[in-house]
Amino acid sequence: MSISRRGFLQGTGVVLVASLTAAKETPAEGLHQTLPARSVAPSNQKWVMVIDLTKCDGCGDCTRGCKAMHFVPPMQEWIRVYEVEDNPAAGPYFLARPCMQCDNPPCVRGCPVGATFKRTDGIVMMDQERCIGCRNCMAQCPYGARSFNWGEPPHTPAELSQPYSMEYNYPHRKGVVEKCIFCPHLLRAGKLPHRTRCGLPVA
Ligand code: SF4
Ligand code: SF4
Repeated sequence: MSISRRGFLQGTGVVLVASLTAAKETPAEGLHQTLPARSVAPSNQKWVMVIDLTKCDGCGDCTRGCKAMHFVPPMQEWIRVYEVEDNPAAGPYFLARPCMQCDNPPCVRGCPVGATFKRTDGIVMMDQERCIGCRNCMAQCPYGARSFNWGEPPHTPAELSQPYSMEYNYPHRKGVVEKCIFCPHLLRAGKLPHRTRCGLPVA
């Protein structure tokens, strides 16, 4: 996807960033006062993902790897790679955009039913069993990092063979919002998020 930096910033309303931080958590008001125990992570680690834009060549391996790991429906990209051009003489550069796992996530504050929430390790999760499909979280996300399943997504036997789990967010279903969830099933197993040619997540 080609876009100018001005266009990206206008579209997101944010300053371009090259890193995701899950540092100090700022408890939101209201909803967070009643956060369920599920928000407690299985470990006391805080997770950070750093993306070095100077090394990204826009190959799309991260997008394809993520889609394969989570059976992401064809119309979605939990990690989207933008081609950004500020100066035609300098040429384009690439911006890989997963969910930023925001410190004080507006998507979480905007969810009326607690279907999306931030764990103590910084990961912003989605619970499809609770999501009512109102899409307010999408309206609140400044990065456009969420997708809505307007129709029944195509399924594979491998996807359908699994019971639903928040840590996979599949089998996918109609009428809910989805996004990058930092591979929490791998974190639970003591592994890093799904790695591709250039994936170097750090804890
Ligand atoms: S679409 Fe789902 S996750 Fe998003 S705000 Fe509505 S209920 Fe919450
Ligand atoms: S979905 Fe958007 S607002 Fe929510 S944590 Fe991810 S980047 Fe931040």
